[in-house]
Amino acid sequence: MENRGESQLQERLGRRLLFFPLPLQGHINPMLQLANILHSKGFSITIVHTKLNSPNPSNYPHFTFFLIDDGLSENSEASRNDIISLLTVLNVKCIEPFKQAMSELLADSSGDPIACLISDAILHFTTAVCKSLNLPRLVLRTGGVSSFLAFAAFPLLLEKGYLPVQDAKSAEPVKELPPLRIKDLPVITTSHPEKLYRLVEGMIQETKASSGLIWNSFEELEESSLVKLRQDFQIPIFPIGPFHKHFAASSSNLLAEDHSSISWLDKQAPNSVIYVSFGSIAAIEEKDFLEVAWGLAKSRHPFLWVVRPGLIHGAEWLEPLPEGFLESLDGKGHIVKWAPQLEVLAHPSVGAFWTHNGWNSTLESICEGVPMICTPCFTDQLVNARYVSHFWKVGVQLENGLSREKIEMVIKRVMEEKEGEEVRERVVHLQEKANLCVQPGGSSYESLKSLVNYISLF
Ligand code: UDP
Repeated sequence: MENRGESQLQERLGRRLLFFPLPLQGHINPMLQLANILHSKGFSITIVHTKLNSPNPSNYPHFTFFLIDDGLSENSEASRNDIISLLTVLNVKCIEPFKQAMSELLADSSGDPIACLISDAILHFTTAVCKSLNLPRLVLRTGGVSSFLAFAAFPLLLEKGYLPVQDAKSAEPVKELPPLRIKDLPVITTSHPEKLYRLVEGMIQETKASSGLIWNSFEELEESSLVKLRQDFQIPIFPIGPFHKHFAASSSNLLAEDHSSISWLDKQAPNSVIYVSFGSIAAIEEKDFLEVAWGLAKSRHPFLWVVRPGLIHGAEWLEPLPEGFLESLDGKGHIVKWAPQLEVLAHPSVGAFWTHNGWNSTLESICEGVPMICTPCFTDQLVNARYVSHFWKVGVQLENGLSREKIEMVIKRVMEEKEGEEVRERVVHLQEKANLCVQPGGSSYESLKSLVNYISLF
């Protein structure tokens, strides 16, 4: 009987899953990790992708790739500098090419039959396309559950007058969304706030209309938020993260990883280094960049700093750095354009992560038991930073502007003081939970089993 059940399952697993990542680094990574996880469960995988930030197929010989035209020209009005416009335009320009791709893939009878699409939540236009083709659509939300609930509360926040945010520095609590304050609401400085509201509305509505919602998060981390989510979203919900803890997968980095990061870390003392990275999109003013540089130097702790080309407004790369800056530090500082972040965070020399609190970075830091210094820039990063510093208490927030004195102080708090020790104990405790949840019997392990069964029945 059991054998028959198993063979039926095998038969169902001879199915193809389509994935459609949002073409941004922080969305491509978890989507491809999820594809790897489901591939390991027996599904065949096709990644539908845009020309913009196209993933490298040679890193994934076990997947097939299908390129669609995103309709974005080189000097498109929606540039990387205006992320909300870019996401809005993608939701319009991709409709026709995506529809064509889906029709072609569904008509192709040579491969395994297609079970469903797994779409990034922000690509909300995919709902209508899937509906017209009678294809089930699951959603991957690549951020955290807690920030998603803040997005889902936008209508309420607008009604109560919290939005549009009048004073982005206001520490007044949002009593409907503890522990958030007005300054933690997931917005972005833009001259078109209504574009953000429409995008968020599309994401929330079309997630509610989906066949299921997958999270790169885990029950023990976001328990209370998941309870609320399950009340408000009457669809199957699968928290199966941290994705990268299921097994080590190949890199989907768009920029070349500089491995001198690791050889440099090898020469540093245990727990001594501050790893600094503000992710793939955030950009800072030159004056803030200089404060970061001098703050790091004044702290006298060794630092590994990712300065991505484009990080500093108006500069190609490191031109604003004073001449001889690194040399004057006697080897205590190392700057790279892009680091192998997972390896860096797992390195015994790293003592703290100064981060912008993108969800992937936040989760990766927790998974490696590394305390955080939080400087969020926009949208969900603001919510994540608040949870890190005031809910999980695994980091310290650097607020109200960057000055070298404040930076030096916050680094000392985390690296040298009792407060830092306590933060470290808490993050190591969370790290243990993250490791356990993907083991047999763990919450994410079980949730992944349910997801596989659920998809197999489509
Ligand atoms: N990352 C990396 N090397 C770097 C900086 C970032 O590999 O030098 C990876 C990081 O591990 C994470 C992703 O890029 O998986 C960034 O995603 P996140 O959600 O943290 O931030 P975003 O870039 O979307 O703002």
